[in-house]
Amino acid sequence: GKGIAVFTSGGDSQGMNAAVRAVVRMGIYLGCKVYFIREGYQGMVDGGDNIVEANWSSVSCIIHKGGTIIGSARCKDFRERAGRLKAAKNLVDNGITNLVVIGGDGSLTGADLFRQEWSSLLDELLKNNQITTEQREKYKSLQIAGLVGSIDNDFCGTDMTIGTDSALHRIIEAIDAIVSTAYSHQRTFIMEVMGRHCGYLALVAALTGEADYVFIPEEPEENWQKTLCDKLAQERNSGQRLNIIIVSEGAIDRNGDPITAEQVKKVVVDNLHQDTRITVLGHVQRGGNPSAFDRILGCRMGAEAVMALMEADENTEPCVISLDGNQAVRVPLMECVKQTKAVAQAMADKQWEKAVSLRGKS
Ligand code: ADP
Repeated sequence: GKGIAVFTSGGDSQGMNAAVRAVVRMGIYLGCKVYFIREGYQGMVDGGDNIVEANWSSVSCIIHKGGTIIGSARCKDFRERAGRLKAAKNLVDNGITNLVVIGGDGSLTGADLFRQEWSSLLDELLKNNQITTEQREKYKSLQIAGLVGSIDNDFCGTDMTIGTDSALHRIIEAIDAIVSTAYSHQRTFIMEVMGRHCGYLALVAALTGEADYVFIPEEPEENWQKTLCDKLAQERNSGQRLNIIIVSEGAIDRNGDPITAEQVKKVVVDNLHQDTRITVLGHVQRGGNPSAFDRILGCRMGAEAVMALMEADENTEPCVISLDGNQAVRVPLMECVKQTKAVAQAMADKQWEKAVSLRGKS
């Protein structure tokens, strides 16, 4: 059977373990040898104990856990060809020519580059007498399949990334807790949530947590100070005892400058004299148990990734497994990465409508 390795790279998210588990078990079920690579690309470059064969029970009791049991890291070495050369040697030594990469667009870009270089990396290893002619022939092509693990839901090509739903659960729990204390003391709370340049978490949290106001990167407002104060005052005048304001960490104003929780607080205090507090949720959002949705998403995507690799050969375009409606489907990896980067560029260029339409297209 084929040699498949699975690794998690970049930021962690809940549900990654479910995906790792599904890759291992589907791989074994189909007669493959499946390996863990620990600590993302760093483990691939360093080799040794970082690359270990997995068995059926090595992924027992992990579906319940947040984070990633095989570790994740950011890796400078892999950005250099010298690092990728070491990684290629370690894969050949272990008979691995199929990779399931679970990460964000950076990790997927690295995997695509690695695949493109594979043939020339092997040539160099052969020239250096680090692999044999037989190995050069036997392991001549590398196949990759990507899964997107990210709480931000910021990747083009999939309806949901692995971890987003669990992060929303964390945020909602926090809002519910804040609401009860805010009600008692007639306070206003400003809650900062994650998402980088994507407002998805903030927007859905605001809708489901009955927030009065939300700031997201995709819709910078002119004169937000007045609109905000009018809205808060109107809510209080109609008898509401509290206000909740959600600020996405990437929120910006019409000039592209950040809108911070501190700024929002100052505006509320100066104009409305409300008792106002800030809660920054931070990494709580990335922690804790994965939701049922993320567990099943990880399972389905992991299984589909293995199926894709089983069918792939050197002429197959690398794919990302994505959720389209309620279907796990394969979409071209680099097209999605390019589109995701185009969204980030449009945001940086302050072309917010273009960013939203680019994100929506795929
Ligand atoms: P994410 O995958 O969450 O977007 P990063 O952008 O930090 O996170 O990427 C994770 C890792 O992937 C990096 O530390 C690096 O090892 C690898 N990587 C990212 N971009 C590239 C690239 N252009 N070339 C090679 N490796 C890359």
